Amino acid sequence: MIIADARAVYSPEGPFKLTIIERRDLEPHDVLIEIKYAGVCHSDIHTARGDWGPVNYPLVPGHEIAGIVIRVGSEVTKFTVGDRVGVGCMVDSCGECDNCHKGEEQYCLNGMTGTYAAIDRYGQFTQGGYSTHIVVTEDFVLRIPDGIELDVAAPLLCAGITTYSPLRHWEAAPGKRIAVVGLGGLGHMAVKLAHAMGAEVTVLSQTLKKKEDGLGLGADHYYATSDPETFKQLAGSFDLIVNTVSAKIDISAYLSLLATDGTLVNVGAPAEPLSVNVFSLILDRRSFAGSMIGGIRETQEMLDFCAEHRIAPEIEVISANQIDEAWERVLASDVRYRFVIDISTMGNE
Ligand code: NAP
Ligand code: ZN
Repeated sequence: MIIADARAVYSPEGPFKLTIIERRDLEPHDVLIEIKYAGVCHSDIHTARGDWGPVNYPLVPGHEIAGIVIRVGSEVTKFTVGDRVGVGCMVDSCGECDNCHKGEEQYCLNGMTGTYAAIDRYGQFTQGGYSTHIVVTEDFVLRIPDGIELDVAAPLLCAGITTYSPLRHWEAAPGKRIAVVGLGGLGHMAVKLAHAMGAEVTVLSQTLKKKEDGLGLGADHYYATSDPETFKQLAGSFDLIVNTVSAKIDISAYLSLLATDGTLVNVGAPAEPLSVNVFSLILDRRSFAGSMIGGIRETQEMLDFCAEHRIAPEIEVISANQIDEAWERVLASDVRYRFVIDISTMGNE
């Protein structure tokens, strides 16, 4: 048994407490990772607060993990001790269904295993990256390219891939007009990635407070959605809208901003259902879609793309004692643009 220090919540209100968790002994294909940094994703908060359903406490969140391999199982072929690696939102899948064969393990027909709050193939409750060590089967471990430091690598494992995948699927490229709704963790990565893919990028944020930042990240235009004029001015003007908002918004109003045949893809996962006025779809043959993270192969492709294009998230590194405060700031849309926990502070009182 491997023991790790971790931070867990014991109720929806928190707060985080220092605890110890057990990681399984290495199976032949497992690697043991010493975690160096873990990103704070809004999904951690949704999960812990029960937005998506009942929670098994104590819960150790964290699915944006970057660290170093410190031990490998007897049959591991892809990694050796010392490798710089990452783990995202999944730690396993069946490996046998059509979607796994296609490399889309996130849509595993038998259900992928989440990095936390899931039951793994050993019958154990998974616990995430707000901890010092994790054991993961090698097929779900990503290689972090040399050009990317571990602190900025962490958010790529969820915020990066969750925005990269739909941008690729709906073919972000020069000539495409793309809007990103919400300039938080996912949103700021969507802006950087869509810009690097050559698209014309517009940010739709609640206010103009972050306009200068947004333009600096690569956006061509920036509008406040609190201003009703925005919806009049931009009607019918986007090929793709990526909605990263963590709360319920008037989705029909945003659909009206799509051009004919345009798609609005929701990656934001609010607790409440979104309602759609079908006329906002029918009138211009528009689509309303969703997308969940990305497969392992595509996640590696995204990491390599970021290294090649020198793309990294904007981060604020925090200590383990600051997680509660950071969560409150995320909930208040006061994050620029991802909190990343320095795991070396995990044991601090
Ligand atoms: P985040 O950093 O909190 O960003 C969300 C942004 O949405 C905020 O910065 C804010 O942007 C905007 N926003 C928040 N509340 C709003 C409201 N009431 N009305 C309008 N806009 C609002 O969160 P994140 O970590 O990027 O995650 C975003 C969402 O994606 C979450 O629901 C998360 O669970 C989900 N997610 C989904 C996947 C997937 O696979 N589909 C993966 C990861 C995360 P402005 O200040 O610019 O308005
Ligand atoms: Zn996430």
